[in-house]
Amino acid sequence: MPAPAGKPRKVPRVLVLGGGTVGLYSARRLRRRLGKREAAIVVVDPRPYMTYAPFLPEAAAGSIDPRNVVAPHRRALKGVDVLQGHVTQIEHAARRVEITPVEGEPYWVTYDHLVVGLGSVARTLPIPGLAEQGIGFKNVEEAIALRNHVLGRIDVAASTWDPELRRRMLTFVFVGGGFAGIEALGEVEDMARYAVRKYKQIEQEELRFVLVEGSPRILPEVSEELGGYTLEQLRKRDIEIFLSTFLSSCVDGHVVLSNKVEFDAETIVWTAGVKANPVLQQSDLPLDKLGRVICNAYLQVTAEDGTVVADAWAAGDCAAVPDLYNPGKFCPPNAQHALREGNHIGDNLALVLRSAQPTEYKHRNVGAVASLGMYKGVAQMFGRIKVRGFLAWVLHRTYHVFAMPTFNRKLRIAVGWTGSLLLRREVVALGSLHDPRAEFRAASVPAAPKDAPAAPVAEAPALPPQKAEKDSPAERDARPA
Ligand SMILES: Cc1cc2nc3c(=O)[nH]c(=O)nc-3n(C[C@H](O)[C@H](O)[C@H](O)COP(=O)(O)OP(=O)(O)OC[C@H]3O[C@@H](n4cnc5c(N)ncnc54)[C@H](O)[C@@H]3O)c2cc1C
Repeated sequence: MPAPAGKPRKVPRVLVLGGGTVGLYSARRLRRRLGKREAAIVVVDPRPYMTYAPFLPEAAAGSIDPRNVVAPHRRALKGVDVLQGHVTQIEHAARRVEITPVEGEPYWVTYDHLVVGLGSVARTLPIPGLAEQGIGFKNVEEAIALRNHVLGRIDVAASTWDPELRRRMLTFVFVGGGFAGIEALGEVEDMARYAVRKYKQIEQEELRFVLVEGSPRILPEVSEELGGYTLEQLRKRDIEIFLSTFLSSCVDGHVVLSNKVEFDAETIVWTAGVKANPVLQQSDLPLDKLGRVICNAYLQVTAEDGTVVADAWAAGDCAAVPDLYNPGKFCPPNAQHALREGNHIGDNLALVLRSAQPTEYKHRNVGAVASLGMYKGVAQMFGRIKVRGFLAWVLHRTYHVFAMPTFNRKLRIAVGWTGSLLLRREVVALGSLHDPRAEFRAASVPAAPKDAPAAPVAEAPALPPQKAEKDSPAERDARPA
């Protein structure tokens, strides 16, 4: 598929790195603006779908089917080529990118225009035990695993009488009090309490949820007043909150906090922020101190001195995009900006490919909405309007279902919510999803080694007489099924 370097292409190729929010929206918008004879578009991503992360907490809580928080590329990106694999090197000077497929040898793809939407990864710290015990909360696989793990621990604890073990299984720690952490904690705690109502052997008081946050407040995205309200609501739900506190260690699930508090927990969820995708270090694109691609307000990649790097665009969590409404600051890494920036890159690229001038990206933050479990939420709209409780929860669902890409997914989510309202949400753990072959492995008979002497062939036993015909109806009924 890649054209040999140097050979001119009839149709310019736009290569989009990452099929997430920026990647999906930029490719879709560009395809809408330009026909196939004007631009060929290729999207590269290791996953065959884009994940709408704001719905991950609800997917973890079982309020949304996890399949519905993703938009499959092949359905959402009509008229766009999709390559499944990791981008492992970017040589923009040579207009080529190395792609490592899930299986097979790495290969290079050449291009004429580059869009970088590689997003971010969890920002972790070298805390003893974290890599072995922690779980992130950035993708749909983690949301499914967390849900199954929490419900699985409740199932197992209900059949365990060792008090130490039960305490450990029923203690859930969330590290990081930003939007993702608070929403994940609020939703998962709500689900766990709902699930426990069905267990005679577990009391609500046995569930222990702990939030650890390094700064003196939670939800920096909203006002202090709303952050304080959220804190109060979470405390009313008996969630233990440690502010200005750090996780010091969690070796073998033994949690040690910087304030000397110690306890055991089998679940440690790490939601303490993100950093730009580290694969950008393997590129010749200009990066800032935080590893983000440097951009101007047109979303063009620039050198540190502001000189435009030709044919390169970037946006989203992996880019430092100037916020024109807050001079001197950068757009925060959120979906609200990422999807608008993606659309803007699509528009600007279409303009440039038709020899017109690109326009500046400018978006005033419309606010923030967070769900804290069924019928609970907080929202701050247009800076001043503060909403809490049920209304905020409705706003959260309404805003995000409209922002969710594709009509197909919007409809599926809305139908799912209606179903849950009528039939109640499902709280069953499908723990063996994570090792579905375990049972078959245990049942399998190991193959005999090749050079082992052949087992003697036993003479076939004589067939038993046709019992069924001889049995009386009473004898037949007495046989186990
Ligand atoms: C739990 C959670 C809740 C959130 N809630 C909100 C919210 O309520 N409101 C809000 O505005 N924002 C929210 N966000 C933030 C928002 O989701 C992100 O800011 C946004 O998705 C960033 O878009 P992006 O395109 O930069 O990155 P992404 O959407 O993450 O896309 C990056 C893509 O790059 C791909 N990729 C990664 N590495 C490679 C590679 N080597 N090669 C090729 N492809 C690669 C990934 O698979 C992914 O598809 C939340 C995030 C999380 C994790």
